[in-house]
Amino acid sequence: MNLSHNMYLNAGISPSVYEFCENIWNSLKDRFDKIDEISEYNQLKVISAMQKNKVSEACLLGTTGYGYNDLGRETLEAVYADVFHTEDALVRPQITCGTHALALALMSNLRPGDELLSPVGKPYDTLEEVIGIRESKGSLKEYGISYKQVDLLPDGSFDFDKIKAAIHSKTKMITIQRSKGYQTRPTLSVSRIGELISFIKKIKPDVICMVDNCYGEFTETIEPSDVGADLIVGSLIKNPGGGLAPIGGYLAGKRECIENAAYRLTSPGLGKEVGASLQVMNSFYQGFFLAPSVTANALKSAIFAANIYERLGFEVVPNATESRHDIIQAVTFGSPEGVVAFCQGIQQAAAVDGHVTPEPWDMPGYDSPVIMAAGAFVSGSSIELSADGPIKPPYAVYFQGGLTWQHGKFGIMKTLQRLTENGIISANFDRITV
Ligand SMILES: *Cc1c(COP(=O)(O)O)cnc(C)c1O
Repeated sequence: MNLSHNMYLNAGISPSVYEFCENIWNSLKDRFDKIDEISEYNQLKVISAMQKNKVSEACLLGTTGYGYNDLGRETLEAVYADVFHTEDALVRPQITCGTHALALALMSNLRPGDELLSPVGKPYDTLEEVIGIRESKGSLKEYGISYKQVDLLPDGSFDFDKIKAAIHSKTKMITIQRSKGYQTRPTLSVSRIGELISFIKKIKPDVICMVDNCYGEFTETIEPSDVGADLIVGSLIKNPGGGLAPIGGYLAGKRECIENAAYRLTSPGLGKEVGASLQVMNSFYQGFFLAPSVTANALKSAIFAANIYERLGFEVVPNATESRHDIIQAVTFGSPEGVVAFCQGIQQAAAVDGHVTPEPWDMPGYDSPVIMAAGAFVSGSSIELSADGPIKPPYAVYFQGGLTWQHGKFGIMKTLQRLTENGIISANFDRITV
């Protein structure tokens, strides 16, 4: 019996939930070893980039005011560029979140009259307002930048014929979202992203291929920038912040794309030369250092959840056995009650705000009420154990994070406990054989 058996019972996990979960966990150990191998590879990648760029104690100190000659900021950007094998990078606390990083990448590299194409279907909800798919002040549309979209085929593959037909003289930029976001389509592997980019570059070599890399970093040994992406973009309160970065976003890619973004973020003429790093450098470096390992913990938690809920008959994306390219786990409950109970279970496992009960609310940027479970050390951080779900069909919940695998495991046990207590899952697991 697990040493922690009584600890789980004391924490409100019933013996049957405990036993069911332990059996699933025991079946996953080989799989977890493979995840550790990826994290080992990526850990070495990060350390060698830090050593190559001579990260020193002085880099960890911040600057104030204009932030000219900020050694920590400049060195960190070189470290990111080396890890992602890009010419340059922009890694800043002034980038407020993932949506901001993506908006920055788009708005700085597109000009009036240009067209943006998404060849992988609808982008992340908050980008609808950035692009102007949903009317919004300051959208790309307001600036005369048009948008086209080609959906994935029903089996999840690329619609190459339609993509080819959608590319024309005005097509300046392509946006490819790696992660599924609030959808149940499969997440794209880096190698599939590579295939798509080479197809597009054959048609139009000078088009800028941007990848929304949110939630994907360090889940594989290569990144989209290794397979032809001109620009990759993400949030520091997801994977690359390692749970420690308190804010921030990054862009890594071609020098010209980064330069455009820097002039937009600060000001024409100033670009990368300003932007004080204040007191965040220590957490940016240490978080990036921890990121491969933290991402592995989140992946294990997601795989554990997939195996539990698939065994209980719910649709899970990705499924229990398929390969992973991001840290998101979707579970379709088919009812608002299922989504709510799952999120409340995650909240009950939190170290911070574990005593509060989340409810659905109308969040800015989303087109339906959303429930979010987030008891995080960094507010809203979704590399920490968290779950959210829009209250709309098919009533799927999106679970992610877990700074430690042990916390992820406990969180998932709590969800199952809550679902059984609320009568959404039968408390009797007898019929299920592991
Ligand atoms: C989280 C996320 C975003 C937006 O990031 P925020 O930090 O929430 O603004 C964009 N795209 C994808 C795929 C994401 O997962």
